[in-house]
Amino acid sequence: MKKRGRSRIWLGAALATLMSAFALAPGAAQADSGNRCSGGYVAITFDDGPTASTPAYLQALRDAGRVRATWFVTGTLASAQPDGTRRIAAEGHEIGNHSYTHPNLVALDAPTAFAELRDTSRVVRAQTGRAPKLFRPPFGSTDARTRQDAARLGMTEVIWTADTVDWSGIPTDTIVANALTVQAGGIILLHDGLPATLAAIPKIVDGLAERSLCAGRIVRTATPVQAWPGLTFHAKAARW
Ligand SMILES: [Zn+2]
Repeated sequence: MKKRGRSRIWLGAALATLMSAFALAPGAAQADSGNRCSGGYVAITFDDGPTASTPAYLQALRDAGRVRATWFVTGTLASAQPDGTRRIAAEGHEIGNHSYTHPNLVALDAPTAFAELRDTSRVVRAQTGRAPKLFRPPFGSTDARTRQDAARLGMTEVIWTADTVDWSGIPTDTIVANALTVQAGGIILLHDGLPATLAAIPKIVDGLAERSLCAGRIVRTATPVQAWPGLTFHAKAARW
């Protein structure tokens, strides 16, 4: 009996060691256990890429446990940094269309506005083999025509539910706090190319994990989601 008891203890200790080793294994955090993501999913999004910082962002996401995000790229930047776009896609992140030259689309004439979206989708498709399924209008400035253009190109319009205002020069901790106002299903707006945002990535992921929230992909939803008073869109975060 005594011997069996001891061997049970040994077995338990060995199992605990094995489990902690597994938990530390790279990519283990990606395994979506039911408990870990019991709070639901939120989408981490980066606008205005790719930039020279994109490889560092990708590294930060890998280091945070192979977290996946959505990049809304412009045609201009994607053309200038084709490797950036390819790497984003190759590492399993989603690429969305953020127009070609980042204009206020609603102020453009119809053919020019449509070309902004069409040409960006062409660039992304040429670089990654896949046309974007998601579209985010620059400045969140949109109207019925813009949404129709996106739909013609097979894209769902995505605004955001948590605006970090990271472009304004605020410190990392404020970016993190703003990001963590997000609720389950919500979409966090961040930008590529900003050192304070890069530093915020692990802290945002940790803060989400404390609430059992996991990074998810963006899917179309029938129910309208409020971006801000007067503007709704039809997308939310879901399991990748
Ligand atoms: Zn933008």
